[in-house]
Amino acid sequence: MDSGAENFYAVWRERQRALPALRDGDFAPLEKLLQAIWQHQRLLRDQLKTAGGKTLRVLHPGFMSVEGGPDFRGAVLQFENEMPISGDVEIDLQTSGWRAHGHDKNSNFKNVILHVVWDTPNNSECVPPILSLKNVLDAPLAELALALENESGLPEKLRGKCSAPLRELSSTQLTELLQAAAKVRFQNKANAILARAKNCGWEQALWENLFRALGYKNNIWPMQNLAETKSRWTRGANSTFEIQARLLGISGLLPDDLTRAQKSSDTFLRHAWDFWWRDRDEFESCTLPRAVWKFHGLRPANHPQRRLALAAHWLASENLVSKIESWCGAEIPDKKLLESLHEIFQIERDEFWSWHWTFKSARMTKPQPLLGEARVTDLAVNVILPWLWIRAKEGANEKLRLEIERRFFAWPTAEDNSVLKLARQRLLGTSAARVLKGAAQQQGLMQIVRDFCEHSNAICTDCRFPELVECLKAKTQS
Ligand code: SF4
Repeated sequence: MDSGAENFYAVWRERQRALPALRDGDFAPLEKLLQAIWQHQRLLRDQLKTAGGKTLRVLHPGFMSVEGGPDFRGAVLQFENEMPISGDVEIDLQTSGWRAHGHDKNSNFKNVILHVVWDTPNNSECVPPILSLKNVLDAPLAELALALENESGLPEKLRGKCSAPLRELSSTQLTELLQAAAKVRFQNKANAILARAKNCGWEQALWENLFRALGYKNNIWPMQNLAETKSRWTRGANSTFEIQARLLGISGLLPDDLTRAQKSSDTFLRHAWDFWWRDRDEFESCTLPRAVWKFHGLRPANHPQRRLALAAHWLASENLVSKIESWCGAEIPDKKLLESLHEIFQIERDEFWSWHWTFKSARMTKPQPLLGEARVTDLAVNVILPWLWIRAKEGANEKLRLEIERRFFAWPTAEDNSVLKLARQRLLGTSAARVLKGAAQQQGLMQIVRDFCEHSNAICTDCRFPELVECLKAKTQS
């Protein structure tokens, strides 16, 4: 077979595609290429020295972050003969990027233990230490650009220590393992609901968990706070809109000013303020400051204002809980589980929120649902099924408990997320989402991450999960 250099296609590709990876003039690479070089450690790894002159050993480059903050999380590095340390790595073209991008003042960057750059003057002792890649590449830059352009995901050598034994399991054994871990996660959620229900009752525990689920990972606590005072702010509210206005006011998310650009938003805001002027003194003690909410990286569809508007509909309908109970008792084929629960939680139409993502966005041409099926699956596996299951268990209703458990294991696959993406690559050695069948298997994998990966580091120090996998293998073989 022809070598790449003699192949017209390869030559053309090299010209067209490698060169744009390099910047004109100074031949510095694009930051994305630097990240790929770092991730794949295409470096003269035994010759690494910081700008301050310290030798550096990279025991693990860390995991590429997909959620903002430093570029790599959880790297394990050894400077000189010191003890290895674990922390984050930030990659910039130039050292000046550290300040220019505001990393020095950003608390998300406080665990950065190495600043990787393309080029820097030597002998500069800095915090965090700097590593320049320019003179330590293991191949010419253009060659690396071509080699790494299609590399996505975790390189094989950076997989976890459990990856090899997991690969040796049969698919039945792997399913058994994931389902066992999923059951632990499910029961933990159910027990947390029970603990709360003992203090505030089943219905209140359900509402608090629904609100928490609407907060996603960033706004769980403000949502929980709002739900805890629900009996106060729902009292005397006579319509969905009045509950919406109160919720927006109490949450601190009702804007003080009109947009002056979106007429329909301003009409909504004037109307909401008509209610909130009257109510706000009464609810002052349970009103949250706007600062407790986190908006960074939030999609407009997930904005807490929109989620509160949805919760107001659920509260105003008054029979949500009995609908959930009827759903639990009804015979529903597995294929219809998601659809049937979606019907309960979906609201028909909201005059404002069905037509606007946020107050600032223009009116949409088509109405958009306030709740998608992906969110219903989250509600099902994190709240509804554990709540129903623990009530059945406490009520010694074995038949119902087993039926709810069956529904949990039959629930269709949930939306992918960054924890699952990394875990699939690190533990199961694949980036394919389809390897996990059903929401329960996803939950199982997340539980393993929580129980083992979160108690270890990127090089799997002291992790006993590989032993557990070996035991499972031996047990089923004997
Ligand atoms: S820390 Fe443990 S469970 Fe996580 S990847 Fe490493 S060996 Fe696997």
